[in-house]
Amino acid sequence: MSNETIQRRGLMLVLSSPSGAGKTTLSRQLLDNDSQISLSVSCTTRAKRASEKDGVDYHFVDTASFRGMIERREFLEYAEVFGNYYGTPRGPVEATLAQGRDCLFDIDYQGTRQVREKMGSDTVTVFILPPSMKELRARLERRAEDSREVIERLLENARKEIARWKDYDYVIVNDDLQRSFDDLNAILRAERQRE
Ligand code: 5GP
Repeated sequence: MSNETIQRRGLMLVLSSPSGAGKTTLSRQLLDNDSQISLSVSCTTRAKRASEKDGVDYHFVDTASFRGMIERREFLEYAEVFGNYYGTPRGPVEATLAQGRDCLFDIDYQGTRQVREKMGSDTVTVFILPPSMKELRARLERRAEDSREVIERLLENARKEIARWKDYDYVIVNDDLQRSFDDLNAILRAERQRE
């Protein structure tokens, strides 16, 4: 037998959900608890929120720079969401996977479809559902980050996004954060054992 070790190529874990379903909290918990996975930091043309850091939450860029990146084929996927561009830079993802590390994506259903088409069997997709529309509204109101008008728009959009849950490999109904986190870990552990 040779001493050659088998270099495992990392997998790509895609999380999607409507705003307010708990996806950000779940991804942070995962990143804090699992040293094998890194977050893919997206580029966006939307304005930075007060709580966000450039280079950590997103790379905030203007529309001209974003278009330049599209032309130079620097994105693994990109999409327009709520009138802004969002895209996943290809380079960091390829570097992470080549090291045998896993990559976590927080992207919408349009991006998920493109990643799956390009990367195929290395992709695992998970949709996080809120327990109900009533609970989603209550969470958005509790978060107190958005105006009433924005909340109505987020809920309208949530209905459209939720309709896509069937396109995903796994669905987690987030009515208890700890249980959802355990489920997410179980999915990741099982997928890592796949041949
Ligand atoms: P937000 O502006 O609230 O941070 O994100 C709005 C939506 O854009 C979320 O559904 C988020 O998952 C999605 N999103 C964030 N980054 C990307 C990306 O790089 N590509 C795509 N396709 N969607 C993204």
